[in-house]
Amino acid sequence: MKKLRCPSPFMGEKSKKKRADKIHAKLKDLYPEAQCALEFGGDPWRLLVMARLSAQCTDKRVNEVSRPLFEKYPDVEAFASSRLEELEEAVRPCGLYRTKAKSIRDTARILTEHFGGEVPQDKETLLSLPGVGEKIANLMLGDVFGDPHIVADTHCIRLAGRLGLTRETDPSKVTRALEKIIPKKEQSDFCHRIILLGREYCRAQNPSCENCPMKNIAE
Ligand code: SF4
Repeated sequence: MKKLRCPSPFMGEKSKKKRADKIHAKLKDLYPEAQCALEFGGDPWRLLVMARLSAQCTDKRVNEVSRPLFEKYPDVEAFASSRLEELEEAVRPCGLYRTKAKSIRDTARILTEHFGGEVPQDKETLLSLPGVGEKIANLMLGDVFGDPHIVADTHCIRLAGRLGLTRETDPSKVTRALEKIIPKKEQSDFCHRIILLGREYCRAQNPSCENCPMKNIAE
């Protein structure tokens, strides 16, 4: 296996915090615009649908599938009254389409019946919706409700490990570990930027360490 340029030493919280500060400073230089890769146009409902579709699917494909999807179903009410078989077909390219279509329609019905068609803004209620776990809830809080959170998706987990920020791999443990070392107001932006680094250099297979701006971060 190829040797990675980022060591993952077992450091105390203080040096991990210093390391995280250094990494984020570099990430800010590299990616000044920390933006969600999902093109949801600022609409909470759209982000919720797209986040649900993104499980085991690329953001690029979710964006492609979502354009015609939101033309066919322009709002929560349209999803709530959709025919399940048609919705399944519309989201099929994203994979796991039966489960995703059902949870999206069930969520639309819950929002229509109990929340006036609006996406709730508190974490506990978000987590009670079908198919919504901490990753999606935190993404929603940070990107549409102005409450930054750690979003421990597969890229974030991989990069946090390779950059020596945590040895954890379980999403909720990675979230707790990063919460301790990334300032609250920067948590969402940090996660967006680390995903961009993962896409450009630190891919799951064949990371491009020789060209990576982080290769000497530990020195
Ligand atoms: S690609 Fe960059 S961040 Fe990833 S392991 Fe290599 S040097 Fe580290």
